Amino acid sequence: MDEAVPSGRSAVRWNDGNGENDGMTEAGWPRAPWRTRFAPAPTGRLHLGHAVNALFVWGLAGALGGRVLLRIEDHDRVRSRAVHEQALLDDLDWLGLAPDPDPASGAALVRQSERGALYERALAGLAGRDLVYPCDCTRRAVLARTGATAGVEGVELRYPGTCRDRAVEAGRTTTRRVRLEREAVAFRDLRLGDQLQVPAEQCGDLLARDRDGNWTYQFAVVVDDLAQGIDLVVRGEDLLASTGRQIQLGRLLGRARPAAFLHHPLIRHPDGRKLSKSAGDTGLAELRAAGWSPGRVLAEAARRAGLAPGGGELAARDLADFVGDRILGRRAP
Ligand code: GLU
Repeated sequence: MDEAVPSGRSAVRWNDGNGENDGMTEAGWPRAPWRTRFAPAPTGRLHLGHAVNALFVWGLAGALGGRVLLRIEDHDRVRSRAVHEQALLDDLDWLGLAPDPDPASGAALVRQSERGALYERALAGLAGRDLVYPCDCTRRAVLARTGATAGVEGVELRYPGTCRDRAVEAGRTTTRRVRLEREAVAFRDLRLGDQLQVPAEQCGDLLARDRDGNWTYQFAVVVDDLAQGIDLVVRGEDLLASTGRQIQLGRLLGRARPAAFLHHPLIRHPDGRKLSKSAGDTGLAELRAAGWSPGRVLAEAARRAGLAPGGGELAARDLADFVGDRILGRRAP
């Protein structure tokens, strides 16, 4: 628990006391049997940031009796590569982390690129309730209309709703947006505590499919988390701002109760840059080639996440105990 976290990492706070959801423990964890997922995009190689995510995902599942489903998030058809998928499967195997089969198909993994019909059905359901509209705005037009500056870090582009009532002909574009009415979404992150987000103000109407016909991450992830019965989403805190809109969209799609969410620390280079998938210094393949053992990689991931002082080895089979100790404080779930 907190005492295991080095000083200066006070952001690591594990909440307790949220008993309002059935299916959840008083502390807000899902009750067994439950499911989480590891959901990498095969647009590059795995690095230490993914190892941190895997440590949390497999560790929590092991400690709390959940299953881990593997979802390849290859919704971006241009940037995704089969070779990256194969490499990430090899890396997981090398680390000693095995996913559970997808309950619906029995397959070892699911790929978003093969789930277009599911997304299509979800969109059609929303369209039947007049919640979807075609949009032919270019990025440039959105920038001009909002007076925003492109590419400023931390500033999200909010779609101003230009096409909401314009009746753009459906055949003109593959772009579709989902109406997000102004609504404050409250949720409790299992590490960061209470959150309040207003998606309509953050991003405006949600882009479900873009002008190249790609399903977006935000849309596909919500459909998949619902379809796969995911009860706990464990991911880096760079995605915290996306959670409110995903809960709101999930509700529109008929999800009765949102998943529980845990956003873990995001590891960075010492100079503050995010790790990139081409970053040779933290790539799992590079560390492996340099003679690192899987246990050393997981111990380093634990150190980078502020969970352990570093050094030594942390074997995959010990992750459940490690996470039980450091995050759950061995409390009975
Ligand atoms: N595919 C996302 C990524 O690689 C993860 C998304 C999520 O966990 O919701 O960053």
